[in-house]
Amino acid sequence: MGKLDGRVVIITGAARGQGEQEARLFAGEGAKVVLADVLDDQGAAVAKEIAEEAGEDRARYVHLDVGREDDWTAAVAAAKEAFGKVDGLVNNAGILRFNALVDTPLDEFMQVVQVNQVGCFLGIKAVAGEIGAAGGGTIVNTASYTAMTGMAAVGTYAATKHAILGLTRVAAMELAPSGIRVNAMCPGAIDTPMSNPSQLDPEADSAETSAALDELYRKLVPLGRVGQPREVADLALFLTGADSSYITGQPFVIDGGWLAGVSVI
Ligand code: NAD
Repeated sequence: MGKLDGRVVIITGAARGQGEQEARLFAGEGAKVVLADVLDDQGAAVAKEIAEEAGEDRARYVHLDVGREDDWTAAVAAAKEAFGKVDGLVNNAGILRFNALVDTPLDEFMQVVQVNQVGCFLGIKAVAGEIGAAGGGTIVNTASYTAMTGMAAVGTYAATKHAILGLTRVAAMELAPSGIRVNAMCPGAIDTPMSNPSQLDPEADSAETSAALDELYRKLVPLGRVGQPREVADLALFLTGADSSYITGQPFVIDGGWLAGVSVI
């Protein structure tokens, strides 16, 4: 028995990083997964691998730019055509830009808002009716450590991640009568291309760059290391499955203790 047997879950940003791990884990737990991304070749390759491992009818890839409402309509239709229903969503896609707030061009601010904040809103809007019609289910939004506190140089990102917590709380209240639980994950530093762009460089030694990240977070984070995408996938599984059946509207920090406090010695 898998923890997600019979479920159909759309996961955005699933071509790599945390979304990829969520898709692999969810399929391993019995779900049918719809991997959605703008990285079509990479996303389709991951879906193919999952289907080879878990079964032909267990994974599909769809092109979905989360900031485009018509893409959402098409993706939900494709998921229903492939698997008959949608009863789960992980809003995982996100982008990060580094800039001081006062130096941030409006175009850059709006680009981050469009993907992180509008993308999350459109996802909730696109799937809520389908999940309700399926008899209930779950939405898991991916916020961030920076949804709970400030972080210099990523102000636009932090603003959108704070906004995701607002969307999560209101959606949880409004969708509870339809049997839909909505929660948010707030990861700290996780070893994916977002935090460790050298993972995208075929020349780079990923073990070496991951070790350098661990060293960076050794003093910042009580658990003394960067997080792994599989650890966030485990939290997404908890929030998507029945183990969290009485939990909705909440942010879940997964950060190795980073937010617990500052150390003065
Ligand atoms: P990542 O950059 O490896 O993955 C992000 C994925 O989102 C990529 O596959 C990318 O192609 C996809 N994406 C980007 N724009 C998109 C769009 N418009 N439509 C659809 N897909 C799009 O990074 P990750 O760490 O796996 O990030 C996953 C989520 O976790 C993001 O929301 C990110 O903000 C959040 N997060 C990451 C960290 C971290 O340290 N890595 C920390 C906190 C929160």
